[in-house]
Amino acid sequence: MLPEKFLSSIKNVQGLDIKSFEATHLAQEQITSIRKNPFKNTTVFSEKNNEQVPWCKHGIYLSERPSFTLDPNFHAGTYYVQEASSMFLWHIVQQIFGDDTQKKILDTCAAPGGKSTLLASYFFDGLVVSNEVIKQRANILAENITKWGTTNCIVTNNDPKQFAPIKNYFDAVLIDAPCSGSGMFRKDITAIEEWSLENVSLCSQRQQRIIADIWPSIQENGFLIYSTCSYAAEENEDILDWIYNNFSVESIKINVPDSWHIVTSQSNQHKAFGYRFYPDKIKGEGFFIAVMQKKESAGKTKFKLNNFQLPTKQEQAFLQELVQLPNTLTLFKHHNEIKTIQANFLQDVAILSQYLYIKKAGTIIGELKGKNFVPHHELAVSILRLSNIATLELSLDEALQYLRKKEINTTTNHKGMVLVTYFGVGLGWIKVLDNRINNYYPSEWRILKN
Ligand code: SAM
Repeated sequence: MLPEKFLSSIKNVQGLDIKSFEATHLAQEQITSIRKNPFKNTTVFSEKNNEQVPWCKHGIYLSERPSFTLDPNFHAGTYYVQEASSMFLWHIVQQIFGDDTQKKILDTCAAPGGKSTLLASYFFDGLVVSNEVIKQRANILAENITKWGTTNCIVTNNDPKQFAPIKNYFDAVLIDAPCSGSGMFRKDITAIEEWSLENVSLCSQRQQRIIADIWPSIQENGFLIYSTCSYAAEENEDILDWIYNNFSVESIKINVPDSWHIVTSQSNQHKAFGYRFYPDKIKGEGFFIAVMQKKESAGKTKFKLNNFQLPTKQEQAFLQELVQLPNTLTLFKHHNEIKTIQANFLQDVAILSQYLYIKKAGTIIGELKGKNFVPHHELAVSILRLSNIATLELSLDEALQYLRKKEINTTTNHKGMVLVTYFGVGLGWIKVLDNRINNYYPSEWRILKN
């Protein structure tokens, strides 16, 4: 049952039909949706007749919820389990940027990575800075971004206020704000228990703080995409009015076909547009999203430029053997590791590292240790094409043993570092020795479920 206080607090929000809304919650239908990785093998889904999420071409609904933990494809990053309403972000960036995908995007509140992996797919030749303030959550974020495998992401672990000095920088900033969470009531009972009017008000203040902190880092004419999974006007339309009252902005109208049953709302004071998702109208959970264009400049920061070291000739020789890099990517050395990132954005890594704690930048290829080049796990799960690498396709049972970091009983004629794959997609490395096979799967990611 939904709390009375909650129901009466939302009875006037735009587009809500409270009776059918309540009935939908009582019915407790479970909706499962995933978003496919456009750069990995997802043919396993094309074979089935899965219903498409209308606003995101990579999104599909599954007819039943499998155990994702026991599906090696999930760990290989071939798809991300994402609530369907959230995938509307795809439609938004498509309308704003079209084919112009070489953009610098910040995802301010990014963990566990649903929207960042969507942005990484869309801006495949751009740069996605994926930030999370809470350290443990930043670890999960880095794991999910690594498994997604694209080379165009930086993961940072900073408070939004640390972005303030990076002025006039991003083409778009997403704030998927921490919120009171009423939109997730159907999926998450604890969200119901934790809900209170006081929390709605606290969340609204926190949302304003995050926006104010991030605001200078958006370029003039750049975009703020603001979203919550709350139904409260205080966290949604009222926040849009607050932005209007404090900054120079223009609300952006998004084209939404009527057949999608998304409610277009408008803020009281400034009539800014917002998009509301109700579970009795659409196939997904409660969600709100809006887009504002910044119409002022914060002045430009004069950034110090920095050059990274390049790989040595010896390292280059190993790399040529190992990986086929498209010429849109560049190599750089950070500590001793050799990494790659979109060439146009290498300078951004240098700039951002002067202000932020960077947990991960691009994709680590590996490291020269003595006479051997040791490939990194990030390379194994990346979308990069490897050459001259021995691979071993695993069965379901073998793949699960591998992901549990247990011994895998298999035979191979290869020796040394071998890439293990499932449905042709890299899961990680093993080292084949004369009398045993060492499992190199990262311990902190191993699955514990039997
Ligand atoms: N965007 C994520 C996704 O699609 O997977 C979900 C983000 S969740 C709605 C909000 C995030 O904001 C959480 O990861 C939370 O840790 C973070 N957060 C909490 N308090 C914050 C604060 N004061 N400033 C910035 N982020 C905060």
